[in-house]
Amino acid sequence: MARYTGPVCKQCRREGFKLYLKGERCFSPRCGQVKRPVAPGQHGASTRKLTQYGMQLRSKQVVKRIYGVLERQFRKYFEMAVRKHEETGSALLKILESRLDNAIFRMGFASSRRQARQLVNHGHVTVNGRKVNKPSFSLRVGDIVEIKEKSRVVLPIKDSVEASKERAAYPWFEVDYENFRATYLRYPAKEEVDIPVDLQSIIELYSK
Ligand code: SF4
Repeated sequence: MARYTGPVCKQCRREGFKLYLKGERCFSPRCGQVKRPVAPGQHGASTRKLTQYGMQLRSKQVVKRIYGVLERQFRKYFEMAVRKHEETGSALLKILESRLDNAIFRMGFASSRRQARQLVNHGHVTVNGRKVNKPSFSLRVGDIVEIKEKSRVVLPIKDSVEASKERAAYPWFEVDYENFRATYLRYPAKEEVDIPVDLQSIIELYSK
């Protein structure tokens, strides 16, 4: 599956706020948005008012960047959400939140979705006892995600687990840090997910 390979911090600077794409670095003074809080490019420091279309476009870009999904895949997710028998925004979030890379990050086995993606790509993760190396793999309620026994000594995983033990877990997962295992208990509600944009504007954008 294709992924974005360009400069990561530029994505935050384009949006004008932190998207927390790089784990620990995002909380340090080395954060690109802290060091250069202007949009990238020659005219980055100039301010201009966004049109309605511009705002809708930015909302979509923010969500795509947070979840690390490219346009084609995102459009596919949106079309899947439209076909569901529920509000499109909620359905879209459920699809995005059920991605394996996102779940690994939310469970606390990785410090960012990018790191989670790498862990999955490198074969460190199993779902219901079977190795899965596809970051876009869609989890179902009841699925059990586990870090392979041999991989539990991998430093980024160990560090993330140690840091995560200190934090409250997301209520839609049951996480057992001692055994590097987590269960997907339920889909999250829209209000529970910390996405800094109005999903309705994405729906309007794609409905044009
Ligand atoms: Fe964004 Fe993190 Fe880079 Fe800061 S360090 S600009 S929050 S990706």
